[in-house]
Amino acid sequence: MHNISCIGILTSGGDSPGMNAAIRAVARTAIFNGIAVKGIMRGYKGLIAGEVRLLTTRDVSNIIQQGGTMLKSARSEEFRTAEGRQRAAETMRREGIDALVVIGGDGSLSGARIFAAEYDIPAVGIPGTIDNDLYGTDMTIGYDTALNTIVEAVDKIRDTASSHERIFFVEVMGRDAGFLALYGAVASGAEAAIIPEIAAETDQFGELLTTGFRSTKNSSIVLVAESELTGGAIGLAERVRREYPQYDVRVTILGHIQRGGSPTAADRILASRMGEAAVNALLEGQRNVMVGIADDRLVYVPLVKAIGKSKLIDHNVLETIKILSI
Ligand code: ATP
Repeated sequence: MHNISCIGILTSGGDSPGMNAAIRAVARTAIFNGIAVKGIMRGYKGLIAGEVRLLTTRDVSNIIQQGGTMLKSARSEEFRTAEGRQRAAETMRREGIDALVVIGGDGSLSGARIFAAEYDIPAVGIPGTIDNDLYGTDMTIGYDTALNTIVEAVDKIRDTASSHERIFFVEVMGRDAGFLALYGAVASGAEAAIIPEIAAETDQFGELLTTGFRSTKNSSIVLVAESELTGGAIGLAERVRREYPQYDVRVTILGHIQRGGSPTAADRILASRMGEAAVNALLEGQRNVMVGIADDRLVYVPLVKAIGKSKLIDHNVLETIKILSI
């Protein structure tokens, strides 16, 4: 087992609300256990460049309620190269950092896994992404806040949608994962969710129109996951204009507002629990795992599983949306 006296922490990839709460929890749990904690700025970019600073308990005061990340986030092409990771390892040695906590999505955790294996560094991942697309955890940090932002926005769109006869396509984030679109549709009472998981085998929108869509309504809201597979909201709107010119269509792309804002209570709690668990994992001698939550219990998932396996959506939820939108 490694004797850990200093933990490095970084946030990487797209930021998500609740990352600050996780940083706070990691820093305070480490300090509580007599371990120093160093904040690495701008993700792997800062690890390569040596942008590192010691964190005290006070440095993480007053951040639990803030969106974004106090450590900043970035993408780093250089970290994908062996040379880049070698420079990152040099920073770790120079700064006396014995272990790494990485908060981010699947790309960030892939980087952590490769780096940890190459340099025999204990690394623990914390799933921080609004997409909720990591295998082995029921929830990722930021997902609940993003979902609430979506619902708030769709509620507003609904007010104007119901004043006219229109189809509103609302595009939400989630590259190749439909969780935000699917559960956002349930929570906002939308008529449908177009998601990438089934886009290849099913013409979801075609089915929707042929099964009596809008038969009893004068306006409809459809949530669309941004993805090449779904065609996105713009792609669908173009199709409607082409194939069903009788419908008046409107497009709203929610974009980056989904990443921002103060984290919900659920995200703060999740981040706080996961942050503490990440340090405990290192103290217990765990390595190359991601902290997850399953049935409200904290679990450790091998990084290789978390990034290698796909988290499946529950197809029954599509049926729920259909039934509840009659
Ligand atoms: P999100 O999807 O929520 O935006 P993410 O963590 O998946 O977050 P990415 O842009 O995929 O975001 O990855 C973030 C960074 O992780 C990359 O810029 C790169 O530095 C590092 N990374 C990703 N994949 C690898 C890899 N295979 N090898 C080394 N580093 C990687």
